Formats: sequence, structure tokens, C-alpha cells
Amino acid sequence: MIFPLRELRILSSSRGNTFGMVRKKGTKAHQGWDLEARNNSLLYAVAEGEIVNVDRTDNTSYGCSITLRFQYNGYDYYAFYAHINSSLVSKYDWVDEGAVIGFSGSTGNARGSKSWEQHLHFEFREKYSCGKGLAGRVDPKFFYGEPPYHWVSQPGPEVLESY
Ligand SMILES: [Zn+2]
Repeated sequence: MIFPLRELRILSSSRGNTFGMVRKKGTKAHQGWDLEARNNSLLYAVAEGEIVNVDRTDNTSYGCSITLRFQYNGYDYYAFYAHINSSLVSKYDWVDEGAVIGFSGSTGNARGSKSWEQHLHFEFREKYSCGKGLAGRVDPKFFYGEPPYHWVSQPGPEVLESY
């Protein structure tokens, strides 16, 4: 399992950027990670799998997004990339681990983010369509281990190994 960005850093400009952290005055749990990503950072397929959705409608929450289905220990999981600018893949595409699938952005409710606020909202899910709150979501620590992740670097796109 590789990272969705070349460097994995939890956004530090605000609170509540890791999984389950409470935000919005304590009423809303965060469903994934907010990872530092200046607009148009390369997005990588975290595993080999199938693109099951590319949402190009800039809605008011996640904005544009990509959903990748992959297998892990015999189970299906989904990697969800939100607030993206653009996608290089389409629904039903099969991608290799480490493939560049799109570019990060500040769409949806991340619109207008200052440079230090720009991020990839990234989730792992157990099913394609999840409910509110943390239902159906998986803490990314399940795949990546314990933090800190600051300045953890992965090889460039030509090398597909992870740590
Ligand atoms: Zn987020």
C-alpha cells in the first residue's frame, strides 16, 4: 500500500485533520485524513484496482472526487480522493499501484483554501457508499500504521515499492 501523495503529511493548519477527530464545534467526526497538498499535486493509486467512480461535479462538500476499489487481505476496500482538481482516469479503468490518477485541488467546501490550507481529503472505506459520521470508514492507520507521518516520503512514480 503506497501513499496517495508523494509525501504524506497531515495538514497542520487546523485541528481535526485525522480520522475521527471532532470538528464543527464537536458535532461532526472527520471521516478520513486531510493531507497537505498544494493544488495540482500528483495523486497516486494507493493499490492496484478499479476506478469505480469519478465525480466531476463540483458539489458543495467533497467537490470532485475519485473512488478506487482494491483488495486487501481478500476483502474489498475503497480509497476515496476528494476536493480534487482533475482526474486522469475514468470509471472502469484498471490502475496499477503507484499510477498517477489525477491532481489535487480545492473543490467543494475546500474552495478558496489558502496555500497552507490546501489539502487532499482522503478516506478508506469498507463499502462504496457510506452513511454519515464514521459509518463504513476505516482509519487509515489500519493500512499505514501509527503516526507521525510528517515528511515520510515514498519513491517517485517510477518506483512502486512502499514502506
Ligand atoms: Zn477532510
